[in-house]
Amino acid sequence: MSVIAPRILVADDDQALCRTLSWILQENGSEVVTLPGGDNLIERLLADPYDLLILDIMMPKVDGLQLLEQVKAHPLLRHLPVLMLSSVPPEEGTVRALGLGAADFISKPFRVRELLARVNAHLRTGRELTRAQAEARTRSEMMDILQEVTASLKPEEIYQILVRRVARALAISKCSIVVANLGDEAGTVVAAYENPMLRNLQVDLDRYPEIRRAFETGDVVLVPDVQSDPIYGDVRAGWEADGTTVETRSALAIPFALRDQPAGVFFLRTAGDDPSLSPQDVQFADQVIRAAVASLEKAYDLENAMLGQEQMRHLAETDPLTETFNRRALTEKLEQEVERAQRYGTVLTCIMLDIDNFKLVNDTHGHLVGDRILRQIANILRREQRAVDVVARYGGEEFVVLLPETAAGGARIFAERILRKVAAQDFGEPGRPVHVTISIGISTYPDSRVSDGESLLKLADENLYRAKAAGRNRYQD
Ligand code: GH3
Ligand code: MG
Ligand code: MG
Repeated sequence: MSVIAPRILVADDDQALCRTLSWILQENGSEVVTLPGGDNLIERLLADPYDLLILDIMMPKVDGLQLLEQVKAHPLLRHLPVLMLSSVPPEEGTVRALGLGAADFISKPFRVRELLARVNAHLRTGRELTRAQAEARTRSEMMDILQEVTASLKPEEIYQILVRRVARALAISKCSIVVANLGDEAGTVVAAYENPMLRNLQVDLDRYPEIRRAFETGDVVLVPDVQSDPIYGDVRAGWEADGTTVETRSALAIPFALRDQPAGVFFLRTAGDDPSLSPQDVQFADQVIRAAVASLEKAYDLENAMLGQEQMRHLAETDPLTETFNRRALTEKLEQEVERAQRYGTVLTCIMLDIDNFKLVNDTHGHLVGDRILRQIANILRREQRAVDVVARYGGEEFVVLLPETAAGGARIFAERILRKVAAQDFGEPGRPVHVTISIGISTYPDSRVSDGESLLKLADENLYRAKAAGRNRYQD
């Protein structure tokens, strides 16, 4: 890690003294800017960051103590240590300067070693103060981020929060999270600050060697310059080969584990104008992701539990051959729909359909063809249904369709259409046509014979029997 030279601004009207001070302080390892006469002092201090200001009290055009007052009154400069320099009698000057917030006072002529000792002391405390402030800032930012993260119950949401908040806190333009399984050639970008709409993009890990290394070793990988770092050698060759210009400067890959299993990598990149990533930035991002892990684990547990429940429910109410509702689910929905129709005074139609002579179809073409016909009839019903309708396999080759808010007229139109579609369809293979017909029984609530789901179904069944008796391939209501 390179140590950045402290920056000192010297404001004194004495040109010779400025030069001497400049030389001494540079020898001491500082970067020095002189501002003879103290013109535009505030503007200069705001334009560039400084660690210390050495300010003359007596200057021809301006009063150093007034300048000190302005510096201390400025919210962005208040914490800058100021060392006052003057030839006025020490007692008076010291008292006034220190009262106004100066860090120290040195009278001219000064001894070089004493001056340097004091400058170094102020630089040190100044740096410690800055670091403490930065830590306090990141701590409160962390608390903020974690509050947002723990409020979220979905992993995708947590990933989005993390990339957004960290990118903003570190003022970098590219921040994403890639998840992967050990040994995989590809990872999945689950969130990217630079593209909030992006969802589950697959990326080839060969193109991101730092992600792969971080993921496989569990160590943080920092690439200060992708344009020259050896880890990017092969990738750069690829860029050259296809003439790609890449803006990325530095890249940082922080691996994270969930339930002790490597889960993914927090991936931060800087481009042209971004400030470069400092060790503090690395630490900050690392702390954020580590603190978010517990919330992520909880969110994944919850998701798995809900997914498990969802799958169980789906299994429990679905017929495996046709993927329509099974008889059990139908019974439940039937009661719900009848109740709803009763409560709101609306109508409800129940359609029961049965394949004609299906035993013969099975005997002639085989059971597998029979199964395919069942699936295809289910598809026809699904295509014809509205979102509110319920399609269920009631028995072997019998289906029931519930049509809420549909009266007898609409039910007949629906039945006609289904009859036509089934009769017109070739259920066989090329060169081996298979045709079937169906019969339909319709019942509609309200009806004097219908008081609940069971009686609605019974009436449809009776009508189906009448349709069969009347010659099949027809409906009866
Ligand atoms: P109809 O209804 O016109 O009076 O005559 P049908 O031959 O269709 O009536 P029946 O109730 O006698 O026969 C129903 C047949 O449906 C018996 C069985 O072979 C067939 N079946 C029932 N479930 C399945 C199934 O899951 N797959 C296949 N391939 N056939 C089934
Ligand atoms: Mg039948
Ligand atoms: Mg039957």
